[in-house]
Amino acid sequence: MDYFALVAGQIWDGRADDVIRDMAIVVGAGFIESIMPVAQLPPGLHRVELPDCTLLPGMIDAHVHYSASMGPGFLAAGVTTIRDVGNDLEWILQQRERHAADLSIGPAIVCCGHLHDGVKPYWPRMGKGVANPDELRLSIRHHVARGVDQVKLYTELDMEMLSAGVAEAHSLGKFVLAHLGKTKAEEACRAGLNEIEHFSGCDVAWKAATPEEDDALIDLLLEHQVIMNPTLVVWDRLGRILDRSFHYDERRQWAHPCHLDIWNRYLSRSGPQAPRLRLQEAVPHLKRFLLRAHQRGVMIALGTDTPFPHLVPGFSVHDELAMYADAGIKPVDALRSATSINAAVLGLGGKTGHLAPGLAADLVAVQGNPLEHIEDIGNVACVVRGGHIIDRQHLLSSLRMISANQPDDAITNDLLDYIYGRR
Ligand SMILES: [Zn+2]
Repeated sequence: MDYFALVAGQIWDGRADDVIRDMAIVVGAGFIESIMPVAQLPPGLHRVELPDCTLLPGMIDAHVHYSASMGPGFLAAGVTTIRDVGNDLEWILQQRERHAADLSIGPAIVCCGHLHDGVKPYWPRMGKGVANPDELRLSIRHHVARGVDQVKLYTELDMEMLSAGVAEAHSLGKFVLAHLGKTKAEEACRAGLNEIEHFSGCDVAWKAATPEEDDALIDLLLEHQVIMNPTLVVWDRLGRILDRSFHYDERRQWAHPCHLDIWNRYLSRSGPQAPRLRLQEAVPHLKRFLLRAHQRGVMIALGTDTPFPHLVPGFSVHDELAMYADAGIKPVDALRSATSINAAVLGLGGKTGHLAPGLAADLVAVQGNPLEHIEDIGNVACVVRGGHIIDRQHLLSSLRMISANQPDDAITNDLLDYIYGRR
């Protein structure tokens, strides 16, 4: 079916403050052709009726380490685009192509290739180790020549390396994000970094602080227009890794059995209690800082770090949205992060992430109204990627096939080596 109309109870376009009613989305050749009153739809045009549903842009997970086993889960959850922020360079480029050619196997992919790390990378397959600024510049040039969309820097890079990496990527016209380790957020802002993952390097966000203390960092983020991608959900799940209730989450059917096994054996389960408690204590502080940064106008992306423990592909985006709402962010603002803001961050602002004529027909319909009740985002009724209506039975059967085989990719093999202490 190439040409049809989606007729839902209401539409939220990914940007506006509220929903609109009595309007339909006309899809043709993979794109949104028009948004028009239901009453004016041409007779004979095929209609997909979605009563009691809210139709919104397909969501974007801006922090993923992709495994081909995760494709069905993302689509089932209404996530039609992901950004891979660390993977084997050639493998993820192939996946990006494969997912562009076959819309039914998984989300569209934006990728960074390997994450650039110190000489001994923390994740040997996802990371590329570089010993000095010249090696880093060479590696970034190679990545850009191969066609990556953005550049990801990692924890072992010190200030000199980080500055060199940011400058090199910018000279090639590329956006740079980082999981900071040896560098503080304040220094990274001054070096021109575009985006910070996980509130890494943001010391004030991890502890009790006054609004004035928060504002000292927030002022810098605003001055340098640095985007924040908090990924609260990965910190929350790592802190609560022993919480048995996650094991009864029926959405885990969308995670590969090998990944569930990795979650069950994750080292922090059996390790000392202190790091788990530190994370549990930190989460309310992270929420406070997130709310303050959002209220002051910092651009907030949304990502998850799937497939780290208890993060079900796609559905972990719903969980991150719930955590934004729990932090005090209005559901509509949380949803903007997951749609139009993420699209802008990924450089896809004119292509997806909101609903307007000429954009890709990437949509999700959910029962209820997630602008009023954020948990309604989990009531997925229909998913459309690039004008292709995703068939849930097809997703389930491809999931069964995928689950029969051990995934052989950088994230899975790095995590297996990690849990078995082989590095
Ligand atoms: Zn990550």
